[in-house]
Amino acid sequence: MSQIPDSHMHTSDSPDADRDATLDAYIKEAEKRGLSSLTFTDHCDIGSPNPLFAEIPDFITQKKRLITLQQSTDVSLNLGVEIGYQPSAQSSIQSLLTSVPFDTVLLSVHYVDGLDPYDQSLFDAYGIKKALTRYYETMCDAVASVPDFDILAHIDYPFRYIQSPDFDALKRHLAPLLNRIFNTLIKQDKVLEVNTAPYRKDYAINAPVHFIYDQYFKAGGRAVSIGSDAHAVGDLKAGFSEAIDFLKSIGFHDVITFNQSVKHRISI
Ligand SMILES: [Zn+2]
Ligand SMILES: [Zn+2]
Repeated sequence: MSQIPDSHMHTSDSPDADRDATLDAYIKEAEKRGLSSLTFTDHCDIGSPNPLFAEIPDFITQKKRLITLQQSTDVSLNLGVEIGYQPSAQSSIQSLLTSVPFDTVLLSVHYVDGLDPYDQSLFDAYGIKKALTRYYETMCDAVASVPDFDILAHIDYPFRYIQSPDFDALKRHLAPLLNRIFNTLIKQDKVLEVNTAPYRKDYAINAPVHFIYDQYFKAGGRAVSIGSDAHAVGDLKAGFSEAIDFLKSIGFHDVITFNQSVKHRISI
């Protein structure tokens, strides 16, 4: 288990991350813990309705810093990104992905129709059922229209902000939409992330949403990654043992990781 690298973490270049979460601090922590690689995936939410995310990190400068830092560490350093999908930003996303040599690209949906699940505006506007329908419709668009991503991040994101949902009813209602997403992932050889933040955060869910990953497995999906979504150095690889137990309980035998853009499968 200790050899499974963390596929999702944020440095202080992400506006919502700990100011002490520098590249150097992560590298020092990885060296202390004997980790073989690090992949930095800062936020890029072009066109975000939240002004906090208006500034996009300078990934070229980050890449240069990583090349310099690589000379003095044995930890393999990777430049990744977490692209927050906005339909209006498709061409900007595409030009970023062609101009920066990312090792791993995470794709996520944080906002829907300019509304945010995090501050409840999405649920206030639509109610739970329609909010989730729009969320997963947007995710269908995202996976179909951003060809160059590797990992679909935190697919259960909106469930973090819903108090006592009727999981059985939602499972039936969302099944066709989720299957569309899964079929695209499988056909395009993409990876589905298990995001471990719910294990340590004060969300409405305290683990990844089981029925979603179970449905992915039943649809034939076998490519999963594990990401802590750390926004502080101390959260690096947080919740990995719980995530491995979770994946094994569904039937998965291995996880996908990327190092220097090369995909690896690691047994769990
Ligand atoms: Zn964040
Ligand atoms: Zn995210």
